[in-house]
Amino acid sequence: MLNTSLDRTSATDHQTLAEVEQVIASGGRALRFSGDLEQRYEAETLEQRRQSLTTVGIGGLLVYNLFLISDWLTLNDVFTYLVLGRLCLITPMFIVLLLWIQRVNRRWTLEAITAAGPVLASLMPMVVMIYSYSPYRLHYQLGMLLLMVYCSMIQQLPLRYAAVAMSLMLIIQLVTTYIADFSDFLIWQANFLLFASAVALLLMASWFLERGSRLSYLFALRGRLLQAQLMELARTDALTQLFNRHYQEEVLTSVWEYASHTPTSVAVILLDIDNFKAYNDNYGHPQGDTCLKLLSSAIKQAAQKRDALTFRFGGEEILVLMMNADVSKARHLAEDLRDVVAALNVPHPILGEGARVTISLGLAAAIAPQSDAGALIGAADAALYSAKHAGRDCIRCADVSSERSSTVETIGFGNSKNAISQSR
Ligand code: GH3
Ligand code: MG
Ligand code: MG
Repeated sequence: MLNTSLDRTSATDHQTLAEVEQVIASGGRALRFSGDLEQRYEAETLEQRRQSLTTVGIGGLLVYNLFLISDWLTLNDVFTYLVLGRLCLITPMFIVLLLWIQRVNRRWTLEAITAAGPVLASLMPMVVMIYSYSPYRLHYQLGMLLLMVYCSMIQQLPLRYAAVAMSLMLIIQLVTTYIADFSDFLIWQANFLLFASAVALLLMASWFLERGSRLSYLFALRGRLLQAQLMELARTDALTQLFNRHYQEEVLTSVWEYASHTPTSVAVILLDIDNFKAYNDNYGHPQGDTCLKLLSSAIKQAAQKRDALTFRFGGEEILVLMMNADVSKARHLAEDLRDVVAALNVPHPILGEGARVTISLGLAAAIAPQSDAGALIGAADAALYSAKHAGRDCIRCADVSSERSSTVETIGFGNSKNAISQSR
């Protein structure tokens, strides 16, 4: 599909960029952006996060089941329960969680489901361990450290989710080893210190990870926003804020490229401020600039309402491009443009008492690629010349949609009667 939407960098984007700069400058320590930026971050990273969690989840599940070897070596007396637990309980549950995260569309749900996985996966072997009489239970429960590393570092849970999941795992670890009563209280206390310190260190690492991922998102977003701004600058005329001539060429080229496989009706309006030299002579160029800006802005807004693009064609000349539009559609827009300029009611006293700034408009419509862009603009220019000739402040139309060969010639200035119709 032809893309002529050509959205300009919105005010919201400028605001977002300012906020992004500010968060980057402050170091992003808060791990939370303001409302809109946070929503954007969550929405734009959701898909990538889902993909990485799925990959990590599949790998984690395989490693989790490999621990059956360790189960067999260290908790041989309850091995059957561990096999049942790992293969018939945790594996299906983990698969359900992985399928579930494919469907959720909220970031917090995704993270909450992800956090639940390792917590439940750690509960099962620790509970079974309580019923074992193996002398290696002290060694076995150290496996919990690996699950904690997986939960926080491999899944890269945001800090808040990691904190909840790790606290639950710590409670599971402390309660089950206490109930298992496999060693004296001193060992349990040393164990507690070991696991509590591990949780604290892993949460610190979680903070760094989340901060890093948020900052790298912000750097990428800043790059995208700056690029959009640069593109906007490159395509915008500095005085009038209309699209510039360079961009006009680009758009016309892409329109005709698109039309080469899908013929498209295109209308062009070429308009020119009447007696603008006299306006400048009377008020001076700075005031002339102000007037030009005022008219351009009103014309742009009116054109946008009808999905037309406005380009600064030359000094005080504006080209309006309308896609999928015939002469009648373009004429309606031309009438709108003439009306908005009239409504501005800008005095032009040098032309006489009560005189106002007006515009003359020439329009032409054609089917691309039957007519080329140059011929279409040439026809609109000829129509504009005819409008000037007819006394200004009026619209003249030229239809070049029929035979290409006759297009430009028919619009010939001396022979404009048939091809150029009148409208005031
Ligand atoms: P016509 O009705 O035939 O178009 O008369 P005109 O005086 O508008 O046309 P002419 O071509 O004689 O003069 C165009 C004027 O537009 C001359 C130039 O000073 C003025 N102009 C062109 N670009 C700018 C601009 O950026 N700022 C200002 N202030 N004036 C400009
Ligand atoms: Mg003029
Ligand atoms: Mg001019």
